[in-house]
Amino acid sequence: MSDTYLNLVNSGVTKKIAKQLGLPQPSPLRRYEPGQPLLQGAVLVLGRGAQSDALAGLLSSDWDLDVHRHATPGTRYSAVVLALTELTHPDQLSDPVLAAGGVLKTLPKGARVVTVSRASRPDDAPAVAAARQGVDGMLRSVAKELRGGSTGNGIVLAEDVPVTAPSVVGALRFFLSTKSAFVDGQLLTIDSSAGALPDDWERPLAGRVAVVTGAARGIGASIADTLARDGATVIAVDVPAAGEQLATVANRVRGTALQLDVTAEDAGARILEHALQRHGRLDIVVHNAGITRDKLLANMAPDTWDSVLAVNIASQLRINEALLTSGDFTDAPRVVSLASTSGIAGNRGQTNYAASKGGVIGMVRATAPLLTAFGGTANAVAPGFIETEMTARIPAVTRQVARRLNSLQQGGQPVDVAETVAFLASPAAGGVVGRVLRVCGQNLVGQ
Ligand code: NAD
Repeated sequence: MSDTYLNLVNSGVTKKIAKQLGLPQPSPLRRYEPGQPLLQGAVLVLGRGAQSDALAGLLSSDWDLDVHRHATPGTRYSAVVLALTELTHPDQLSDPVLAAGGVLKTLPKGARVVTVSRASRPDDAPAVAAARQGVDGMLRSVAKELRGGSTGNGIVLAEDVPVTAPSVVGALRFFLSTKSAFVDGQLLTIDSSAGALPDDWERPLAGRVAVVTGAARGIGASIADTLARDGATVIAVDVPAAGEQLATVANRVRGTALQLDVTAEDAGARILEHALQRHGRLDIVVHNAGITRDKLLANMAPDTWDSVLAVNIASQLRINEALLTSGDFTDAPRVVSLASTSGIAGNRGQTNYAASKGGVIGMVRATAPLLTAFGGTANAVAPGFIETEMTARIPAVTRQVARRLNSLQQGGQPVDVAETVAFLASPAAGGVVGRVLRVCGQNLVGQ
């Protein structure tokens, strides 16, 4: 689905007119291509202490980046990393944060600002908690100040997680890369040191078997493409009515197709049977199939409510239960579910959808602990406005407004959601447990 406005304000005369009128000027976002360098210029790593040094060392020695510890006049940094895990008082924020402020005006389009900090806890000394929580507010505000498709995101470490833990490294790479093009203003908590770094960052899912529901089109088809690109064998699931499109996707990713309504009582058993028979294992489940049936609650018919809850949440609970009790989903398994910003912020006319998507967030939080004994995780991705057939059905004026209501002033693409799913499905994300990562361009609604 294309965004005509975005194309117009980035070409010729219409670009000039839009500027003169002070209209929103979204920048086209750069997406990931295999082989693309992680960054296109030097990275400035700010912050003091052994943990900042360890992060800077990782960026320069493991990833071969041009790392500066102080801003060098005349250098255009493609990324700024604020290593803030050792803060004990808000006073210590000023040096690194103001140093970052000093280079913001010179950042090129599509630059990255990433904070690495510690989660504040109820038993922290007040000054420690203030410093830690202060990072969150600062980062969200920086993200709102950035222009030109640049993003700001934060990695928040639980107390005993070292800065070199696989999920910290994986999250840092994800946020620095173009894979996170539409993830903005988000703080991702790393709960544990679990997880493993891939041998090859270009194929982190090699040897893994993944099932993607609702894979015939839209976000699901893009998830299938992206997981396959990352090395996974993909089982594409969708309803029989979408069989032709499903076969096209399955063939494209050199995977297999399974025609299945996810609301079927035996859906979990059928997915597992297909995976074991055709591919010998199952490692990753992406619950992407979803529907909307929007109505104001005052006008909601029982069927309209029930059908959305059945597809969007009840099916996921039933499939997860079948997999978790099977004994065949135990090798660092990954469950990644599609939530929605509507499930966080609410949306008029979407009580049924928001109940189901809020339900997904609760479900992953409660499912994750059931998987940790096997090195497994369950997490959710909450898209904001993504350009798909689902959102193409929104009336034109509402759609035009909805896609501008975020810091990047545009809708995301299915691939933006897919890249985030692929990150959470990867071995490096083993320390992200029961979390929700929003892919919404820092949507103005919701927290
Ligand atoms: P879409 O309507 O384009 O595709 C959904 C797919 O799910 C379709 O192929 C459909 O046939 C399949 N499906 C529906 N019911 C099914 C069932 N019972 N069994 C098997 N397959 C079924 O939707 P999309 O925009 O690609 O959305 C994908 C997911 O992302 C959904 O869960 C949606 O709620 C979520 N999401 C989308 C957006 C957005 O802006 N597009 C925003 C937030 C969340």
